[in-house]
Amino acid sequence: MVTTHNLGFPRIGKKRELKFALEKYWRGEITKNDLLETASTLRQEHWQNQSKLDFIPAGDFSFYDQLLDASFMLGNLPKRVQGLSGDNLDNYFRVARGRASADETECSCIQAGEMTKWFDTNYHYIVPEFDKNTQFSLDASRLLEQIDEAKQQGINAKPVIIGPVSYLWLGKSKDETNKLDLLDNLVIVYGLLFKKLQEVGIEWVQIDEPILVMELSQEWQHALRKAYYTLQSTPLKLLLTTYFGELQENLQLACNLPIDGLHIDAINAKDEVAKVVDWLPCHKVLSLGIINGRNIWKTDLTQTLKWLEPFHQQLQDRLWLAPSCSLLHVPVDLDSEQKLDSEIKSWLAFAIQKLDELNTVAKALNDGSHTVADKLAENAAAIDSRKQSNRVHNKDVKNRVLEITDEMGKRHSSYELRADLQRKKFNLPLYPTTTIGSFPQTSQIRQARRDFRTGKLSEMAYHEVMQSEIQHCVKVQEELELDVFVHGEPERNDMVEYFGEQLTGYTFTQFGWVQSYGSRCVKPPIIYGDISRPTAMTVDWINYAQSLTDKPMKGMLTGPVTILNWSFVRDDQARSETCQQLALAIRDEVLDLEKAGITIIQIDEAALREGLPLRKSQWKYYLDWAVQSFRITANGVKDETQIHTHMCYSEFNDIIESIADMDADVITIETSRSDMELLDVFDQFHYPNEIGPGVYDIHSPNIPLVDSMVNLMKKATQRIPAERLWINPDCGLKTRNWDEVKPALVNMVKASKILNETRCL
Ligand code: GLN
Ligand code: ZN
Repeated sequence: MVTTHNLGFPRIGKKRELKFALEKYWRGEITKNDLLETASTLRQEHWQNQSKLDFIPAGDFSFYDQLLDASFMLGNLPKRVQGLSGDNLDNYFRVARGRASADETECSCIQAGEMTKWFDTNYHYIVPEFDKNTQFSLDASRLLEQIDEAKQQGINAKPVIIGPVSYLWLGKSKDETNKLDLLDNLVIVYGLLFKKLQEVGIEWVQIDEPILVMELSQEWQHALRKAYYTLQSTPLKLLLTTYFGELQENLQLACNLPIDGLHIDAINAKDEVAKVVDWLPCHKVLSLGIINGRNIWKTDLTQTLKWLEPFHQQLQDRLWLAPSCSLLHVPVDLDSEQKLDSEIKSWLAFAIQKLDELNTVAKALNDGSHTVADKLAENAAAIDSRKQSNRVHNKDVKNRVLEITDEMGKRHSSYELRADLQRKKFNLPLYPTTTIGSFPQTSQIRQARRDFRTGKLSEMAYHEVMQSEIQHCVKVQEELELDVFVHGEPERNDMVEYFGEQLTGYTFTQFGWVQSYGSRCVKPPIIYGDISRPTAMTVDWINYAQSLTDKPMKGMLTGPVTILNWSFVRDDQARSETCQQLALAIRDEVLDLEKAGITIIQIDEAALREGLPLRKSQWKYYLDWAVQSFRITANGVKDETQIHTHMCYSEFNDIIESIADMDADVITIETSRSDMELLDVFDQFHYPNEIGPGVYDIHSPNIPLVDSMVNLMKKATQRIPAERLWINPDCGLKTRNWDEVKPALVNMVKASKILNETRCL
């Protein structure tokens, strides 16, 4: 018999119940007991959703983040919250978000823990903090309560725990402490934890060591051996769990650690499965993650069964089946979707449907395919419909991609020649000022967009509201005397959705929420088919804005790589190909803007970095096609047309060559918080084009001072000649209000003037 299990279930709830409860609790609108009750109801519901599985995860539920839960379980609280009033949950929220609850004022000074991306997903975890005084101690109460709760509901719980070595790897040393020096103490605490789990009758524990899919130095490989050899005396059975990628050079290590079973991602590491089956000692269980936990497509069950058959033959009872990774990264329930096109809906599976697929495969193996014939037939029909559908496949789009040439990604002339032409044409001062695109999205704007969507506002009336917003933005920019204007993006709720809604091949869900961090969720749109752009998407708005001023108005677009990285993408073609289709669609828009007389066009690539593969050895391949997609989008324009791009992060030292390779005339980036440290990279690397290092931190309500901006720019001028520098905020201004934005930009323009004056002296 094969065994089924799950690695983790989305905790946020079908209707984002956890989000709303948390936010109400933080605002002081519900009590702690209300919050705990919502959590318990959700856990119960989620266990019910998984009840057909042999083992069901426990401890995967979290009020904010599972790594933060682990830090609390291991007694690793930052010093700054120790000794404060309240209970554990108060401290938990202090580390998560800087304060415990609404009535917390004495503590508003507490710095929240740093947040960072969980591997290559869009989930963000709270980074464990270490220093030379770090001592671990066990507090398993949260986990034990959840296990107890599961037991009372008759659930066969398998606790889910981050492994000690990955825990250290994912954390950050706040002083010079070598994280691995903490391992011995940490492993002792894991030993105690296992003892506790055994005492409450637990049989299997899922212990996640996802770092096994990364490039590890010998020290870290050794740490894995040391940890698991030390823990091998535990009477519990350990299922060592990896996901998101291939084990590669860590394969033998993973197979040979003294554990009782190994889980691998049989989607992303499909080609390694045969090798693992060979290598794995025959007393160990092998869990194959056969259902993709990172996308929303139905699994081809017939094909999966065919592929599994020989492994099943070989492994028999030692074969376990699961999704490839925790289902945290997919929406909860497809059945909630009432508005999705029925054909497209028939191709999709969210968390609950994915578990159903898993059960079907297991039953087919255990009891014979005939026992699930209906399900298999239904699945085969859906898979076939998706393969054949002409809503997915568009010959013209595919042919256009085939006809892409290198020439399409190249400007006619070099940057130097272009810059010369552009200087003459725009006649901008040194340190020209601009903004990144959006201006404050007031409640009035949001209301108008909502009313238009629900039909309360006619198209004409909606256009009028938007046009008057644009007028307002232009007027403010005139008053501020900025050099290059933007229209302010009032018509966009989101920089991907706005474009997705106007492209073919895209669809949107009502409840397809995925946790991004804490109570925050995102609803990635779904690319289901070949992408094309039936009509211009932004030209009317930009044209209208340009008609109101003599200053250059930037056309404002989202780039192909960012659109790709913030969507659920197709699994039936390479990401790079989908990206090329997007590139061609946005290229058409660029050329239409140019035709309409727009002379500066900004193509945001906010998420270029997010697509970097887990292993550095694969970075080049990704960067090559990503940069080429950008170049196809941007570089069909005349030499006089100025291309800008924007990225909202400051770590790009390690990808600076690729960024230069994009060949945008101007790039605006985030730098203000890092005090221009980012520009250190220019000591070694000669960045050839123009750059606007953000001097105004838009994530803070503070108004930046003239002097501080002048100083930042002076620092920048030490690295990059003044002729190639721009002054701008870090990012778009949509989350700020006008009272913050206006004085900040007044100061920014003043800073530019001062820099120009001192230059002329
Ligand atoms: N143009 C977008 C804006 O200003 C860019 C947003 C972003 O980089 N995240 O809002
Ligand atoms: Zn940005």
